[in-house]
Amino acid sequence: MRVILLGPPGSGKGTQAQRLVERYGIIQLSSGEMLRTAVATETPVGLKAKDIMAAGGLVPDEIVISTISDRLDQPDAKRGFVLDGFPRTVPQAQALDELLKRKHLKLDAVIELRVNESALLQRVETRVAQMRLRGEEVRVDDTPEVLTARLASYRAKTEPLIHYYSERRKLLTVDGMMPIEEVTRQINRILHALAGKKPAKKAASRKRRGMGTRKAAKKAGPRAAKSGVKAAAAAKKSVKSRAGARKRVSETLRKGAKKSSARIVKKLTKRRVKA
Ligand code: AMP
Repeated sequence: MRVILLGPPGSGKGTQAQRLVERYGIIQLSSGEMLRTAVATETPVGLKAKDIMAAGGLVPDEIVISTISDRLDQPDAKRGFVLDGFPRTVPQAQALDELLKRKHLKLDAVIELRVNESALLQRVETRVAQMRLRGEEVRVDDTPEVLTARLASYRAKTEPLIHYYSERRKLLTVDGMMPIEEVTRQINRILHALAGKKPAKKAASRKRRGMGTRKAAKKAGPRAAKSGVKAAAAAKKSVKSRAGARKRVSETLRKGAKKSSARIVKKLTKRRVKA
C-alpha cells in the first residue's frame, strides 16, 4: 500500500500515519521528522534546513526530494509506505511521480485531511499555553506565530496539490475535524474500498494465465466445484461483476472528489455488496 496524507500542519497527518503503519505494516515517511533528525544531528542537509524550518518556511525542493528518494530505496519501503508532509509543492509531486515511475511503483491514494484553520490555530494556542504553564519545551516551529506562517505556506504551495491529485483521480477527502478515532475509521474504510478492487485483478490475471472460469470455480471451493457448469457460469458472472465494480469504483472516485468520503465509502460499499 502506498498512500499520501495531505493536510495543513496540525491536521493530524502524523497520528493517522502511525496508525496506518501499525495496521498495514508499512513505513511512515515523514519529511518533517527526517529534516528534524538532520537538524539535530547537524548533517549538511540539517544545517541548510535549520533556519528555514524555524521560520516556518519550506526547505528547497531538491533537498527534500533527494532525502525521500534515498529513503524509498531502502528495503523496508518495499512493503509500502505512507508519506506524511511530502509532497508539499507541485514540483515535489511531479518528482514523486517520476520517482515512482522509475521504481515501477504505483500510488494507491492521496487522502486529504480537511480542517478548519481557525480552529486549528486555537487548538495550537491552547496546547502551547498549557505546555508553557507546565514548563515543557515547545517545538520552535509549533508556536501560534510560526504556525500562521506554515499555514500561509500550505495555502500557497501545498493546496494546489489537491487539484493535482484530484485531476489524477487519486484524491479522497476526510473531515479532519472529527475525533481522531473517527478519522482513522474513515481512512480505513477508504483503503478497504480501494483494496476491494484487487480480486477483479486476480481474476483477470487468472484468465490471462489460461485458468478458465471452471477451474476458477473449482478453486473457489467445494460448493462451487460441485455444480460444474453452473459454477463456471457463476464464476464468470462474478469476474464480470467485479470488473464492473472496479470500473464503478474509479468512476465514483472521480466524481466523488468533491464529496465527503463518508458518502463515497457508503456508495462503494453498497455497490460492492450488490455486485
Ligand atoms: P512537518 O513536521 O511536516 O510540519 O514539517 C516541519 C517543517 O519541515 C516544515 O515547516 C518545513 O519547514 C519542513 N518540511 C517538511 N516537509 C517538507 C517538504 N516536503 N518540503 C519542504 N519543507 C518541508
